[in-house]
Amino acid sequence: MNQINVLLCGAAGKMGREITRAIAGVPDLELVGAVDLIRVGEDAGLLAGIRPLGITVSDSLPEMLARKKAHVLADFTSPLAVMENIKLALQHRVPAVVGTTGLGDDELQSIRQWVEQYATGAIIAPNFALGAVLMMKMVQLCARYFTAVEIIEMHHDEKLDAPSGTALQTARLIGDSIGAVMQEREKFEKIPGARGGRVSGIPVHSVRLPGLVAHQEVIFGGAGQLLTLRHDAFTRECFIPGLLLAIRRAPRNEKFIFGIENLLD
Ligand code: NAP
Repeated sequence: MNQINVLLCGAAGKMGREITRAIAGVPDLELVGAVDLIRVGEDAGLLAGIRPLGITVSDSLPEMLARKKAHVLADFTSPLAVMENIKLALQHRVPAVVGTTGLGDDELQSIRQWVEQYATGAIIAPNFALGAVLMMKMVQLCARYFTAVEIIEMHHDEKLDAPSGTALQTARLIGDSIGAVMQEREKFEKIPGARGGRVSGIPVHSVRLPGLVAHQEVIFGGAGQLLTLRHDAFTRECFIPGLLLAIRRAPRNEKFIFGIENLLD
């Protein structure tokens, strides 16, 4: 396939505008449709701060899926909207690349089923930043040698879901084994939640403040030592190379793929 036609859902959002700029800047991808609930009728290119692209924002994903010859749907919307969007795309046999976070185990299981049912692939990534993906690989090594760990994730105050998709995935990768050996001390909490929420038994703390973008620390503790892994995303540009990799892979992917680490050599 020479050119990949991309339908972008959440086009008026912060990520959506970054993605529009990125797609317009590469020759092998073309934005063929832009969907959002806001800025409807506006040109997606102008909205993204670049030249007019002749693609106006629509509020109807079903109409765009029916009218545009999309090879990929990229979804960066909201945890409230994403499931319906994915189902619609797969029903139309359009592979999905999903950056929207907040998907739990039940939702991921439903997407797996739709991928089978409609024989159309979905690539879901809680974090498209390469540094965050490498951090997730490294935590698995550290988890073999440490028995205690906590995760602190910090994001801008407009983020809807907590904990972040990256924190959820990091905790799941470290796994139940390390969580199980950590002492359960919630009963001594003076304020419920003071020790964070538990994911696979691991405490996860979510900070939401203006000024932050997307940051995560994974702190392993051992007798007399700490090992801290930290990733900082300072601008949304960091998500673009991983996202473009997923978009380019999507048209020939028929599977359910979770995490871009599975797309890297
Ligand atoms: P944002 O600025 O709020 O943008 C989301 C946009 O989607 C908003 O314009 C929103 O409109 C729109 N929207 C909501 N429901 C919709 C629907 N049914 N159809 C079409 N558009 C809809 O948020 P953001 O910062 O761009 O982030 C979007 C998502 O991507 C979040 O879940 C975030 O956590 C995730 N994210 C993932 C990565 C990654 O690497 N995986 C990186 C960054 C962000 P309203 O304002 O009217 O709701």
